[in-house]
Amino acid sequence: MDLLKSAYSDLIKQKALELGFDACGFAKAEELVPEKEILQGWLANQMHGNMHYMANHFEKRVDPSKLVEGAKSVIVLLSNYTPKAKQTDPEAPIIARYAYGVDYHFVVKDQLEFLFQYIKEEIYPSLEGRYFVDSAPVLERSLAAKAGLGWIGKNTHLIHKKLGSYVFISELIINLDLPYDEPIQDACGGCTRCIDACPTQAILPGRLLDARKCISYLTIENKDSIPEKFKGKMENRVFGCDICQEVCPWTWKSRPNTNKNLTPVTKIIQLTKNEWHNLTNEQFIETFRKSAVKRAKYSGLRRNIDFLISKDAE
Ligand code: SF4
Ligand code: SF4
Repeated sequence: MDLLKSAYSDLIKQKALELGFDACGFAKAEELVPEKEILQGWLANQMHGNMHYMANHFEKRVDPSKLVEGAKSVIVLLSNYTPKAKQTDPEAPIIARYAYGVDYHFVVKDQLEFLFQYIKEEIYPSLEGRYFVDSAPVLERSLAAKAGLGWIGKNTHLIHKKLGSYVFISELIINLDLPYDEPIQDACGGCTRCIDACPTQAILPGRLLDARKCISYLTIENKDSIPEKFKGKMENRVFGCDICQEVCPWTWKSRPNTNKNLTPVTKIIQLTKNEWHNLTNEQFIETFRKSAVKRAKYSGLRRNIDFLISKDAE
């Protein structure tokens, strides 16, 4: 059986790379013990702000075997989204790199479906399970670390030794037993660059993020106005914030992704400062039609732009 499992493992990992994923690892589908307590404390301290959904499905979130009946393994996949190009106007409001291209949910979901079908047709006809990309209560970073794909850095991102942290994490939770990968050692060492660089002091000791202070939360998930105390601290970020990844030495050697479906959308990265400032609802719909930026809706993005403009006007 072990030989068989090992053969399955090789076939699945090889297929994942062929389909365009950049890394693949396996974790046992079971309760994530330390994470359960950490998540409990984080929620109790209200650090999730108004992301109330984070408190939903708690038991499933900390145990993938409760999310999918009969689950034995989690196949975790990474997709490098380090972009090939940058925003062209250096004064334009800055968006997070993951939002340069077509919404990754669509791109990765197709690849997951292919992988699932491949396993069912070629390896294990009795395959049952589900696949997700940021679309279910799953602690994706913890599962990726458990599957040996990296460690959770002090900036709270998953860091892969070769790919860095600009990676989408997705997973298949399935009823097939696989040989599980070993977690790798944390390699942050004595570095504190991310903590020092965070403009809003959102990164707390113990690899915790106070989402209420994080620019990414404030500009995307937050549905209220941005508190005045963040004026002058947004570092020109209008949708998301990559600062704690930009300063991380493990991202400096990330190579641009080769997935043509994740290529930056010209219209988005070429928006000038002036065009951003005057963005209308019609232009928003046209420019971000297939983009992850849509999550903020026009009203949210407009609020963020106006917040940056109000700082410039001071
Ligand atoms: S994303 Fe930006 S605001 Fe949030 S923790 Fe990182 S540096 Fe701080
Ligand atoms: S910047 Fe330094 S401390 Fe922060 S995640 Fe990267 S290596 Fe770890």
